[in-house]
Amino acid sequence: MSDLVLYDVKDRVATITLNRPERRNAQNPELLDLLNDCWERAAADDEVRVILLRAEGPHFSAGHDMSGVKDKSLSSIADTIADTGTLALYRWESKRYLGYSRRWREIPKPSIAAVQGACIAGALLLVWPCDLIIAAENARFSDPVVMMGIGGVEYHGHTWELGARKAKEMLFTAKPILADEAERRGMVNKVVPLEDLDKAALEMALEIAQMHPHALEMAKRVVNQTLDIQGQYAAIQSCFDIHHLGHNSAYVQSGSFVLVDHTAVKAAGKV
Ligand code: ZN
Repeated sequence: MSDLVLYDVKDRVATITLNRPERRNAQNPELLDLLNDCWERAAADDEVRVILLRAEGPHFSAGHDMSGVKDKSLSSIADTIADTGTLALYRWESKRYLGYSRRWREIPKPSIAAVQGACIAGALLLVWPCDLIIAAENARFSDPVVMMGIGGVEYHGHTWELGARKAKEMLFTAKPILADEAERRGMVNKVVPLEDLDKAALEMALEIAQMHPHALEMAKRVVNQTLDIQGQYAAIQSCFDIHHLGHNSAYVQSGSFVLVDHTAVKAAGKV
């Protein structure tokens, strides 16, 4: 049994823990599938009123596990025999990136992400779908995917979370948004000292867990519905297609889904 993701329920709070600290909680397919299983388990359990997502180790997550990306063949990621060409990647990412993130956002129970250290690129796909985000003082949120020849990660929450200009700065420069600024811009609810992160997140979860679950479900829905009427999800879906234009362009130019390998990005000091 894999322990890449841990799951625990106590006092009506389901705690889901990313547990791959030796790889900075980089997301491989197994971790993502297990994570989704945990979300679904929490959604189906009537005892669970609030979902808390946290991560072991000094960093929340380094994003998608890029090891082997250059060598990955299109056939190796195809889920079905009908997948062909770069459509295989499109379908794979539609399910595990866009699809999972959308599903987590729609689970009719409040969710809280507790974020420390680095929260990079694909890690944003885990925290933005959560209803609330509590950040440690050392949390930093970044999307350096432009350095890989693509205009941003699969789930374009940037503009909605930060406003247009800051979203562009984040993407153009690949520099992180620090916890304080993320709070000022409304991207995180609260910033606490690192040593208080788990306690603060749990306290908020326990407080919310006292509320009527049906009212919470409706409260979540009215906010999400408002965003969707403003076009949020249609925009995210549309931007996912632009992301894949980037993958296709990189593939045509280099035979790889991304233009720059992860070690080059690391060397530039951005992660
Ligand atoms: Zn992608």
